[in-house]
Amino acid sequence: MSHIYPKPLAKLIEAFESFPGIGRKMAQRLAFAVLKMDDERVEFISKAISKAKSEITYCETCCNLADASPCTICKGSRDKTMIMVVEDPKDVIALEKTNEYSGLYHVLHGVISPMEGISPDDIKIKELLKRLNDQTSEIILALNPTIEGEATSLYLSRLIKPLSIKVTRIASGVSVGTDIEYADEATLTRALKGRILI
Ligand code: ZN
Repeated sequence: MSHIYPKPLAKLIEAFESFPGIGRKMAQRLAFAVLKMDDERVEFISKAISKAKSEITYCETCCNLADASPCTICKGSRDKTMIMVVEDPKDVIALEKTNEYSGLYHVLHGVISPMEGISPDDIKIKELLKRLNDQTSEIILALNPTIEGEATSLYLSRLIKPLSIKVTRIASGVSVGTDIEYADEATLTRALKGRILI
């Protein structure tokens, strides 16, 4: 199929196909859109991609994406007694938008999934346990309402509760099948306010 395109165009289509949710058709559309852009725009896009990749790092404390470690949330004047555990950096963004939470975060970068061969060691659980200290009074589990999310919540609560730290989870306002990153702010605010002890 690709032999019908000049080589550089075939390469560009292949590049766009690396993105999640982008199939061959959409990749072709994007590639043709690039060809129509002026040079400055193309340079802006390619620079933005390589700069983001080279300059974004992970906070060594909370494991969130950041441009420095510790990140602005860990470094700032947040309530250090609470740590909210989420799956993905996108969840932090969704929760920050509610303006309802003033504590810290911890990003696991996934959930335990025996089906996909993801064990507790493959996600940032060790890093979470390492940062718990006398200051920590509450761990809020805000994982997505999937089977894997539930199992990971249970696993974490079993690990953390014996340390005499309160473990809560956000309320079921975030319903089954709705990922936190897609939940609207009002729903997330309700879920945060109505968190329950587990
Ligand atoms: Zn951080």
